[in-house]
Amino acid sequence: MEQTFLMVKPDGVQRGLVGEIISRFERRGFKLVAAKFERLPDARVMEHYAEHVQKPFFPGLKAYITSGPCFLMVFAGKNIVKISRDMIGATNPAGAAPGTIRGDLALEIGMNVIHGSDSVETAAREIGIHFKPEELASYTRIDEQYLYE
Ligand code: UDP
Repeated sequence: MEQTFLMVKPDGVQRGLVGEIISRFERRGFKLVAAKFERLPDARVMEHYAEHVQKPFFPGLKAYITSGPCFLMVFAGKNIVKISRDMIGATNPAGAAPGTIRGDLALEIGMNVIHGSDSVETAAREIGIHFKPEELASYTRIDEQYLYE
């Protein structure tokens, strides 16, 4: 089953949105297979955001993402990478569609509440950065027979 890496960023944790965000993915039918709560070490931030390290917004991004604990998750399900990106909405919440997480819960690009992997390859890379293989649970959700035809 396809997997993705999702992370409630420090603003989402501070604003008490962890439960709401988990609920959205659970209710859609996706299966939670790993989760942990931690403040990201600098080295892991550099690895996670390697493609952005040279960008002008990176110092602000690094300060924001290490400003408090994050809630890190792996979710699984059919087409989860694309569907979860659609559920998250545009990077800049100012242009994110209503009904999306950012479109419902955020206002500014530098405080956009959640991260989600943008491709199947990125998801595998990001899961590997943040979780050990043995931290991922393997189980069948009891409602899978009513989620998948
Ligand atoms: N970001 C920012 N300013 C920018 C662009 C990005 O602060 O001008 C931050 C923002 O938190 C964003 C993250 O950098 O979520 C990663 O950017 P990316 O383009 O990968 O967006 P995402 O995949 O998170 O939608």
